[in-house]
Amino acid sequence: MSLSDITSRITAAKAEANRPAGSTRLIAVSKVQPDERVRSVLETGHRVFGENKVQEAQGKWPSFREEFGPVEVHLIGPLQSNKVKPAVELFDAIHTLDRAKLARKIASEIQAQGKSPELFIQVNTGEEPQKAGVLPAEADSFIAECRAMDLVINGLMVIPPVDEEPALHFSLLRKIAERNGLSGLSMGMSSDFERAVALGATHVRVGSAIFGERAYEV
Ligand SMILES: *Cc1c(COP(=O)(O)O)cnc(C)c1O
Repeated sequence: MSLSDITSRITAAKAEANRPAGSTRLIAVSKVQPDERVRSVLETGHRVFGENKVQEAQGKWPSFREEFGPVEVHLIGPLQSNKVKPAVELFDAIHTLDRAKLARKIASEIQAQGKSPELFIQVNTGEEPQKAGVLPAEADSFIAECRAMDLVINGLMVIPPVDEEPALHFSLLRKIAERNGLSGLSMGMSSDFERAVALGATHVRVGSAIFGERAYEV
């Protein structure tokens, strides 16, 4: 499938849900993909990408940006506190804010660099022990805690459990966002982005449906 097929499917899902055109950003998730596949998507004019590792992104995006001009790169994978400095330098958005220590580090890096990426708080709606994210019951207080650090929170992010109906998780995420006055919803991947769009996604993160299967899982 090509990028333009995905774009048309997003447009169709949006029209069906009576959502205004242009309200969903497509993040092309390029993690682990060979450079030539990423390059071919850049050559179509697409300029919004997602990576899940700081180091991998550092090895790839400075040179692509030199060659193609400004490209928005979103961090969608877990962020360790000791990688916050390069993450704030490199990324336009961080989708995986999920603990106070990380929030404090990001707040001080934003001060130091005078540059602030968009921030999304990851919510572990499935309450899965192995998964990152704040629990739904703790989300309101964590959002308030981040705001008290003067962080501007743009929205929430979720990765639903693989074996459950994602729509339930998308709806829960949206409910938490609404009651906290947050407009951004980062939800939906290759297998479920149309349902996410129907339920209000402002950012979908689509990898394998655009680039093909990844050579290995990360
Ligand atoms: C890899 C990844 C994606 C993209 O997954 P696909 O199924 O290839 O679309 C989306 N979100 C996150 C957080 C990921 O790690």
